[in-house]
Amino acid sequence: MTENSRIRSTGPAKTQVRPRTEGWTQKTDESGRPLLQFASPKRGKPPVHLADLTPAERAEKVKELGLPGFRAKQLSTHYFTHYTSDPAHMTDLPAAQRDELVAGMLPPLLTEVRRLETDKGDTIKFLWRLHDGALVESVLMRYPGRITLCVSSQAGCGMNCPFCATGQAGLTRNMSTAEIIEQIVRANRLIANGELGGKKADDHSMERVSNIVFMGMGEPLANYKRVMDAVRIMVAPQPDGLGMSARGITVSTVGLVPAIRKLADENIPVTFALSLHAPDDHLRDELIPVNSRWKVDEALDAAREYYEKTGRRVSIEYALIKDMNDHAWRADLLAEKLNQRGRGWVHVNPIPLNPTPGSVWTSSEKDVTDEFVRRLNDAGIPTTLRDTRGKEIDGACGQLVATTEDEAAAAAVNAAQPR
Ligand code: SAH
Repeated sequence: MTENSRIRSTGPAKTQVRPRTEGWTQKTDESGRPLLQFASPKRGKPPVHLADLTPAERAEKVKELGLPGFRAKQLSTHYFTHYTSDPAHMTDLPAAQRDELVAGMLPPLLTEVRRLETDKGDTIKFLWRLHDGALVESVLMRYPGRITLCVSSQAGCGMNCPFCATGQAGLTRNMSTAEIIEQIVRANRLIANGELGGKKADDHSMERVSNIVFMGMGEPLANYKRVMDAVRIMVAPQPDGLGMSARGITVSTVGLVPAIRKLADENIPVTFALSLHAPDDHLRDELIPVNSRWKVDEALDAAREYYEKTGRRVSIEYALIKDMNDHAWRADLLAEKLNQRGRGWVHVNPIPLNPTPGSVWTSSEKDVTDEFVRRLNDAGIPTTLRDTRGKEIDGACGQLVATTEDEAAAAAVNAAQPR
């Protein structure tokens, strides 16, 4: 059966809604293709920070500041193992030059604007302001035996996915390597201060972030170099980096095929996740506009190659949206396309849609969700429903920024009104 005949054969049994029929209009470029922003708009660069530099470059920069190169190692130890940028804590550095050295090497990058907590304090969402006023988010989550941080890689996003709050806001700019790393260091500092709740008395796991997911704002593979430099710093042994395990780092993408191939050749075994959300081009063209460049089959082939080159099992992400992509035939088609490419190389992570404010779409009903998961599992594809941690604190990508920008806009309007 072809994809089109399947679409027709769904008949009246289950409704089909699509972004376009639900009032969403696809933005297009001059040539009429779906609008995608791959290049970061030019803006003032964030200050250069120790975490933007290689160990050799760090020593070089410290020498430029008039101190011997070995001071760079001491600064790295403060930053990557004690999670501090506060000169007052650095008593092993010469008091006279300490402030200048810290100002030159560890400039402030993220100002905390807001912190929201839920799940009895074991989920914390941060809203950060960057040096130029751009806003980004990260979400910290404690699970039994691991602590996961969801990080942003861009301020905004150029991929324009209709169901995603960040996608609708457009791309402000790429984040620097150090801005990405600083999200982790700030989270580690908070954990070290005992501010992340939910720890059980018998949990002796190390008290710092163990897992990173690039599922905050932005398309990580559209900011490839800075994201990969950040990954290299995450896995570099302390004190040069954070000493994390590559396996605990998940890079999630809409499916930039050439970049997926490049990632597979990096020899850093990160976990790879593909945001598929539809197994047929017909729907995916609208749901994930980058599908106009690389089709479902091309993205799946690249994902399979990732597995072949790295031996790492790939994740397929699938936000279940009521009557849009949750049809039983789509579960079957997805299973078929994955099984066509071999066994044991992939698992599927459906997640109920977290509706963005004002969204006309909602998450799938429970019985539909269960049926979708069951069909995939029955076809031999390991499938686990992902939890929706932090839903009540606008856990979905970009929602906190959207709310804050709305509030700022409302405040500006109020301020402008005569009293
Ligand atoms: N740009 C990357 C990573 C950021 S988004 C990517 O698309 O993979 C991380 C995941 O959250 C993606 O799978 C994305 O499709 C999903 N997502 C975005 N908005 C969502 C929403 N409202 N509800 C559920 N998942 C959402």
